[in-house]
Amino acid sequence: MNESAVSRDTRPEVDLARPADRPTIGVLALQGDVREHVAVLDLCGADPVLVRRPAELAAVDALVLPGGESTTISKLLQVFELLEPLRERLRDGMPAFGSCAGMILLADEVLDTRPDAEHLSGIDMTVRRNAFGRQVDSFETDLEFAGVDGGPMRAVFIRAPWVERAGAGVEVLARVPSGPAAGRIVAVRQGCVLATSFHPEVTGDHRVHRLFVDLVRDR
Ligand code: GLN
Repeated sequence: MNESAVSRDTRPEVDLARPADRPTIGVLALQGDVREHVAVLDLCGADPVLVRRPAELAAVDALVLPGGESTTISKLLQVFELLEPLRERLRDGMPAFGSCAGMILLADEVLDTRPDAEHLSGIDMTVRRNAFGRQVDSFETDLEFAGVDGGPMRAVFIRAPWVERAGAGVEVLARVPSGPAAGRIVAVRQGCVLATSFHPEVTGDHRVHRLFVDLVRDR
């Protein structure tokens, strides 16, 4: 028996496997539906932690940006001195998932926002804030979500944005299936950054979070 075979036999497999199996995923906890994401991430096999400070951001494998109010979160990112550290981690390839306000924050360019709102340029896309208009500003629908099995996905939209321009490197994962906004892009992925206009954290359908946790694990 050679040496490497011996060390393989005695390796404490569980300890070595653990960090890769349960990645530490931060939830940006400045405002919005933080608790919902924490609960779903836990069910999907990640270790969720709240992120409010640069040191907490530095310690996570990936980050979820929750729904809420994007201009408020933008302001708080500056107050909590997280804006630049977050941009830097995204530039370095940290996986991220933004739902609704989180999608807005991850955009390159945002339409119908406040002139002083900051964005993170995590995805090469233009997003229109509050895009669905008054009549249907909140609604639910079933949609096809590329790359996940199990049939149509229930999607809850709450004063949601849509993606008005997706760059060449951006994969479109879902569109509104019917109605006045039929065809509008509502889920995208660029590399390991994922964004949905809707809120998969509130429906009990965990497929988007599972996709994200798998993507983090694969890295
Ligand atoms: N309309 C909100 C915004 O502009 C987003 C709404 C949401 O996250 N549910 O930030």
